[in-house]
Amino acid sequence: MDDASSRDMVRVWFDAAMRTEVVEAIEAIHEEIAEAIRRVGPLCLASGQCCRFERHGHRLYASGLEVARCVAICRADGRGITVEDVQAAVESGECPWQDGRLCTARRGRPTGCRVYFCDPRAADIVPELAERAHAEIQAIHERFGLAYRYGEWRSMLHLVLSEGVA
Ligand code: SF4
Repeated sequence: MDDASSRDMVRVWFDAAMRTEVVEAIEAIHEEIAEAIRRVGPLCLASGQCCRFERHGHRLYASGLEVARCVAICRADGRGITVEDVQAAVESGECPWQDGRLCTARRGRPTGCRVYFCDPRAADIVPELAERAHAEIQAIHERFGLAYRYGEWRSMLHLVLSEGVA
């Protein structure tokens, strides 16, 4: 993919992230995840550890639409990040929105963050929910004609931010 078509793809993700019908479709998945998690009731036992990816042995994946949505929401909330922030996060092994034990991207965080709990009570539901959420996000890309890219969180953030699309 050349530079222009990559930029167009990212621009389309940002535009889609603002469309009411896309927002509603994503929020429906988030609500479905929240309801399933509420039923199991896992505790967040090691708050923030899973966002320290290398140390925790955890990998977060997200789609292009999810990444653009998170970037756009965080910008609107005054917590925008840069490519340099992402590079620093790669070097530290963390998420660029992690502040101590806290997530500063709660409203924008992707499905991968919403389904994951290290509490053993969630051991069965996490992979099942993750697989379902992944399929539903992919279906949203298809339904709204959005190019589908899915990859490691900071790699996808780098892709989205390096295109310089507002
Ligand atoms: S977006 Fe929030 S919950 Fe997700 S990895 Fe980053 S800090 Fe953790």
